[in-house]
Amino acid sequence: MAKSGTKEWKTRTKLVHEGSRRSQYGEMAEAIFLTQGFVYPDAESAEQRFIKAGEDEFIYARYGNPTTRMFEERIAALEGTEDAFATASGMAAVSGALMAMLRAGDHVVSARALFGSCLYVMEEVLQRFGVKVTFVDGADLAQWRAAVTPGTKAVFFESMSNPTLELVDIGGVAEIAHQAGALVIADNVFATPIFSRAVEQGADVVVYSTTKHIDGQGRALGGVVCASREFIRKTLEPYMKHTGGSMSPFTAWIMLNGMATLDLRVRASAAAAQKIAETLADWPQVGRVIYPGLASHPQHALAMAQMGNGGTLVTFEVVGGKVAAFAFCNALQIAKISNNLGDAKTIATHPATTTHQRLPQDQKDALGITPGLIRLSIGLEDVDDLIDDLAQALGRN
Ligand SMILES: *Cc1c(COP(=O)(O)O)cnc(C)c1O
Repeated sequence: MAKSGTKEWKTRTKLVHEGSRRSQYGEMAEAIFLTQGFVYPDAESAEQRFIKAGEDEFIYARYGNPTTRMFEERIAALEGTEDAFATASGMAAVSGALMAMLRAGDHVVSARALFGSCLYVMEEVLQRFGVKVTFVDGADLAQWRAAVTPGTKAVFFESMSNPTLELVDIGGVAEIAHQAGALVIADNVFATPIFSRAVEQGADVVVYSTTKHIDGQGRALGGVVCASREFIRKTLEPYMKHTGGSMSPFTAWIMLNGMATLDLRVRASAAAAQKIAETLADWPQVGRVIYPGLASHPQHALAMAQMGNGGTLVTFEVVGGKVAAFAFCNALQIAKISNNLGDAKTIATHPATTTHQRLPQDQKDALGITPGLIRLSIGLEDVDDLIDDLAQALGRN
């Protein structure tokens, strides 16, 4: 097993080497241990392993697997947490982190602007099991301060919200939560593990859908929870391994390969996103452009302090409402109409009729999800080709 030794590796080195395990064959690439179980040399060893499994000893793939473990160790090293647990999807990570630590009567404070499935877990699942949830405007620290009480067990938010790219001040919310003894759980998908320093800023538990930037090529569903060894091993692992939301070794292998290029990819996409946002802001066919890397974004300073750049998504308003937005989507030649994000391929999403279709109109209004709104996830194509594609789709030539 490769260790970083005494010197802490930098990000790109970690992304390529951290957590690697090699079998007796000394294979160069990470191996896929596509096995549910493990053979014990004798009955005594089996007994011993069930008492306490060592670092390179596994029992059953739902509990852990060498390929999955490589991925967990690599992302924990990247995120700066002691440990991590990989899950079957981002939602298995979000629901697992919450369900593992909460019980009936507990109180949670959550940002209101959430990914649809996260909102379902908060509004339906947790409340059905007797957990009280208070929703706040995530960008407003005064609302967090008013909602968090000494009995609050956890706070939950997406560090950058979908699709209107509003930021939560992680340090500010963590200070309020920690004073009350509440755990800070951050869904950090839009920030990516490259731009995030959520742990440094006070998050206790960081959750990713690895389906997005970590895979980076839209192939597999996956998720991961990064936290202290105590939280991962004592709280999360017993829940996950007995309820079945573990990541498959094949998926872990895809994610390991995605991580090798993660830093290069998200930096390229973010640089292109910045250029695209600046370009869109000058076009009369476009209303407001929401991009945290633009000085016009109300939380531009926070975005720079928290992430160092504006990220890989650009949201903007097509002048002319739904009809114009649909015409724009249908005219795109490079960007694809879909609802994933963090892919090598640029993706255009019309939130009002897809990802946020089910929300009642007053909630869409409150979240700023207007009929002309488009969310772009910027991929890895040549940025000038993308700008030409957007221009022609907006009828500029
Ligand atoms: C995609 C996403 C999820 C859910 O992840 P899946 O891998 O689709 O289960 C959760 N939170 C955010 C912010 C997401 O973008």
